[in-house]
This record gives sequence, structure tokens and C-alpha cells, in this order.
Amino acid sequence: MDILGYIEDIQNFFRLPIWRWLIYGIVFILIIIWLAFVYWTYRDARLRNTSPTAAIFWALVVLAFSYPGLVVYLILRPPEFIDDIVERDLEISRMEALLDSKVSNCPACGKEVHDDFLICPYCRKKLKNQCISCGRPLDLDWKVCPYCKTTQ
Ligand SMILES: [Zn+2]
Ligand SMILES: [Zn+2]
Repeated sequence: MDILGYIEDIQNFFRLPIWRWLIYGIVFILIIIWLAFVYWTYRDARLRNTSPTAAIFWALVVLAFSYPGLVVYLILRPPEFIDDIVERDLEISRMEALLDSKVSNCPACGKEVHDDFLICPYCRKKLKNQCISCGRPLDLDWKVCPYCKTTQ
């Protein structure tokens, strides 16, 4: 068996129609995935608080430039999901509300009580005096009401 015949065998093997169909198949799959990425880009951009116009723009970029366009989008897209932003803002306002409401702990039972409570609703410990004139809550050792100047 001469070497030229051997090379010819290999060449004939790669000329078989199955190779062409295999390449067509791969190209077909790549096109399907590419089109799916066009849709995915639009949806991803919308979830990231991008305007509809910008989302369509990015989808068109991926449609026009295919995979290189997708890479550019992945680099330039906004880093946060809109849901994450909403969640973080909620968390911040919850913390602010907690700081604003002036909550402290009952010295007797340790449960949370508001600063204007007169007695602890859990253990009935007296927390504040009530001003004899205006009725506002006063610390137990205050001699005069700071709101209405009435001596207690
Ligand atoms: Zn208590
Ligand atoms: Zn008073």
C-alpha cells in the first residue's frame, strides 16, 4: 500500500456528505442560539431597569453583530437587577423607620417598648410618669414637665 493511496483514502473520507450535513447542523444550531440570545438580551435589559428603547437597541445590536454583539452587551449592561434595587431600597427604608420610631427595651423584661409608653405592655412595669397637666409621658425622675412647665 503506497502512501499516496493512503492520503487519498483520508481525503475521500472527509469528502463524504455526512461532514457537510454535520457543518450545516452546527451552523443551524448556532443560528437558533443566536436568535434566542436576541430575545434573552431584550428581556435581561428590561429586568435591569433599562428603558424599552435601550432594551430594543441592545437586542438589535445582538441581532446585527451576533455573538460579538452579545459580548459587548454583557460588558456594558447595568450590573443590577431592578428587583435587587427595589429590595435594597425597601431594606433601607425599614432600617430608617426602625431608627425613627425610638424603640427601646423594657428594663424589667427586655421586650421592645416605644419611648412614649407609660407602662410596659408585657410585664406592667411602670416606664414613665404622665404629666398631671398635659398628659405627656415624662421620665420617672423629671421634676417638671418640659412640654407645659408644670411642676410634678
Ligand atoms: Zn416589661
Ligand atoms: Zn405637661
